[in-house]
Amino acid sequence: MSEQYEVVVIGGGAAGLNAALVLGRSKRKVLVLDENKARNNVTKASHGYLTRDGVKPEEFKEIGISEIEAYPSVTYIESKVTSLHKEEGLFHIHSDERHYTAERVVVATGMKDVLPDIKGMQNVYGTTVFHCPYCDGWERREEPLAIFGNDPGIMDYVKLIYHWSKDLIVFTNGPAEITTEEKEDLSLHNVKLIEEPVRELVSENGNLKKVVAESGDVYQRSGGFILDTSETQSFPLHEYFNIEFTEMGGYYTKEGCETLVEGLYVIGDSRHGFSGLLKAASEGYELAVALNHEMAVNDW
Ligand SMILES: Cc1cc2nc3c(=O)[nH]c(=O)nc-3n(C[C@H](O)[C@H](O)[C@H](O)COP(=O)(O)OP(=O)(O)OC[C@H]3O[C@@H](n4cnc5c(N)ncnc54)[C@H](O)[C@@H]3O)c2cc1C
Repeated sequence: MSEQYEVVVIGGGAAGLNAALVLGRSKRKVLVLDENKARNNVTKASHGYLTRDGVKPEEFKEIGISEIEAYPSVTYIESKVTSLHKEEGLFHIHSDERHYTAERVVVATGMKDVLPDIKGMQNVYGTTVFHCPYCDGWERREEPLAIFGNDPGIMDYVKLIYHWSKDLIVFTNGPAEITTEEKEDLSLHNVKLIEEPVRELVSENGNLKKVVAESGDVYQRSGGFILDTSETQSFPLHEYFNIEFTEMGGYYTKEGCETLVEGLYVIGDSRHGFSGLLKAASEGYELAVALNHEMAVNDW
């Protein structure tokens, strides 16, 4: 036995919930299947979303679910999707041993972060060490900060973070892959560069206190930023369909969020690698408007 929906949304973050909200307001029969393990669960506050600046991720989610559930044609189920395929124009979705079908599927499953393998990093990520300065730079302004990273983007990243705090130490955790001129440029701006491996991060309740280098040298820091969180897709859509990745690790779609598989859409972080809450939500809104319009014209 399977239950049929007009649209199944996989993933209930900002992107998926906003898509479901607008589809619900359009009287569409929608199912949201959500594992409820968003990447920002590690943090205590989200910023930069007008009317919700500083909101706790779980509160944002709670409000979102209660808003979509106000529409009778929308169902939200906390559950992990374990397979997806298409047969004779219909998508088949499996989750918790249940089977659903839909003409359209929206993938809004986001990304997972894989943190650098540094002892103590897990304890501080999301509390005092972050990736995105627009999300968390204000709270760390003028503080003594550590920057972790050693790929070609590091100089640009340092220049950006320097805007929020001039007290920076860059930890490349091994020989720095930058030129001698770039090293001089850092020194000219009083930004210290530590190339020796990091032994551990010492923290209390998520608050970074010290970065300890392999030699035992100790650097007092109260927060920091990680250039590369090696994010990967949370949901392996590419295992079910032949879908390519973008340079940012997102699933490739045409303009309008549709993949090369008809009726299969990707929005939010899954499409961009990192979209931020507002863009994820707005993409959910835009896609829902487009889908409902298309369905209304088809129904005519
Ligand atoms: C530490 C940190 C701090 C951040 N701070 C901010 C901030 O201050 N402001 C801001 O705008 N952005 C912030 N972000 C970024 C923001 O969290 C993301 O850009 C945003 O959550 C993307 O929304 P989304 O709906 O695409 O994905 P997500 O919010 O990640 O939601 C995806 C959902 O899909 C679910 N899912 C995954 N796989 C499956 C499956 N197989 N079956 C069912 N469900 C599944 C997940 O469990 C999750 O609930 C932060 C990110 C991090 C890591």
